[in-house]
Amino acid sequence: MFCKNCGKEIDDSAVVCPNCGVATEKMAASAPVQPMSNTLATVGFILSFFFSVIGLIVCIMGLKRSKEPAYAGNGKTLAIAGIIISSIGTVFYVIYLCIIIAGLGVALA
Ligand SMILES: [Zn+2]
Repeated sequence: MFCKNCGKEIDDSAVVCPNCGVATEKMAASAPVQPMSNTLATVGFILSFFFSVIGLIVCIMGLKRSKEPAYAGNGKTLAIAGIIISSIGTVFYVIYLCIIIAGLGVALA
């Protein structure tokens, strides 16, 4: 890249121009920005208690979103917790369904 101040070609990884000492665009881009809150992870976490399958899907989406630079890992823990809770919920739901189906089978037999 080229320095926006003096126009001299500088290394792409440089944060400051070695020629004039002015901060490069990379420096500006890496400046700390307030990360966005991950609503998707929060919603997914809450949903995981009531609607396991939907909660699981929303939590996976929330986890993917937390990996985006704008979110800076926000909601990652919440999304993982939601995935665990909804996974357990889904297992119980499947067991519950099996019991009902088995019960129906017995009733119909
Ligand atoms: Zn320069």
